[in-house]
Amino acid sequence: MSTERVINFGAGPSALPLSVLEEAQKGLVNFDGTGIGIAEISHRSKEFQAFLDEFEQNIRTQLDVPPTHRILFTQGGGTGQFSAVVLNLLARHRLLHPTATPEETVLDYVVTGSWSKKAAEEARRLAAGHATVRTVVDSRVYSKDGKAYDNIPPHAEFAFSEDPALIYYCENETVDGVEFSHDPQSPASFPFHLLKRDTLVPLVADYSSSFMCRPIPRLADHAVIYAGAQKNIGPAGLTILIVRQDCIVDVDAAARLGATPVPLSLSYKILADSGSLYNTPAVLPIYMSGLVVRRMKENGGLPYYEEMNRRKAQKLYAIVHEGEQKGVFRRKVQQGSESWMNAVFEVLGEGAEKKFLEGAEKEGMKGLKGHRSVSSHALLCIRVSLYNAITEEEVDKLIAYMTRFLGES
Ligand code: PLP
Repeated sequence: MSTERVINFGAGPSALPLSVLEEAQKGLVNFDGTGIGIAEISHRSKEFQAFLDEFEQNIRTQLDVPPTHRILFTQGGGTGQFSAVVLNLLARHRLLHPTATPEETVLDYVVTGSWSKKAAEEARRLAAGHATVRTVVDSRVYSKDGKAYDNIPPHAEFAFSEDPALIYYCENETVDGVEFSHDPQSPASFPFHLLKRDTLVPLVADYSSSFMCRPIPRLADHAVIYAGAQKNIGPAGLTILIVRQDCIVDVDAAARLGATPVPLSLSYKILADSGSLYNTPAVLPIYMSGLVVRRMKENGGLPYYEEMNRRKAQKLYAIVHEGEQKGVFRRKVQQGSESWMNAVFEVLGEGAEKKFLEGAEKEGMKGLKGHRSVSSHALLCIRVSLYNAITEEEVDKLIAYMTRFLGES
């Protein structure tokens, strides 16, 4: 068994900074001078509470989260939020519109990839008989082959409902490598200008694979933003929520008016009222994620990561583009909609992807195999995940390998 670490380009759980892993090793034995390891200490101890407060504050200041929004910590991952967000926002809608019929209670889903498709499917399951789930737009319609999630559709196609219980989108589609652009002038940006301005819009964003890799555009206009920790900031087991106060509602009062009952563990109000400590939280993932965001602050915060992530993505797409010109690589995603975090491309020719993956592995680079569902042929597709912990030097090493691969092809 090798004790050497490799470069892990995997999509998640993914690489974490080595310095943080080493610091966490110490905390595992003795957390903050308490003489008790972090996995052993009570979540109600003053030392853990102080750590949690600092963690929250580090997210709040780096993402510039306004006082209108709470930051909450929970478990259950993105998948848990596919359900929780539906139930909490249906409860909110019921309190605002006590007599609304299922036809008048509409959930708007923007579908730009496998994860938003899954979220919409869960909404359909939970809302059956209570509400109507609408696909606002499905990006496959605008794809090159009519089948792939390879683009952000034109703004004109985003026809939101009049007064929906939620509007849902996934900022970065991890499997398909499609992401909304953060340049407001780009046709691939999220069409914030089409949202009604005179009400508190229940806009929900899944930021699972792009949380804290750069600032969140129009954060204050969102009702709920959520992310599993396991891509950019920590191990799996922690889910982070940013919830606008008006979405923290008494779900039992809503149930008395006919809304679906909400399990206590999924209720945003229960989480908020208990300071995210209603039941035992994921102490160890919180600790490791807290160390990561502390390190991020020391490194210069999101401006530093935004610039680094921009350069990493630009360099990588440049070599993929070069390979495309030579007929060796083929990008899966249309220009302008490519993800900064998950670059997806094919290596053309019989056996070529296998050769690419094996060659990379020989040089200590792993986790490059794409998701089966994206592939248009027998093989897999390459997916390079460029989360925060992947350094520029590591990307340069991959690019050097890709350059040699092109030379030999
Ligand atoms: N949403 C996105 C964008 C994801 O990438 C993932 C997982 O990779 C999920 C949701 C599901 O998250 P989890 O596995 O934490 O339930």
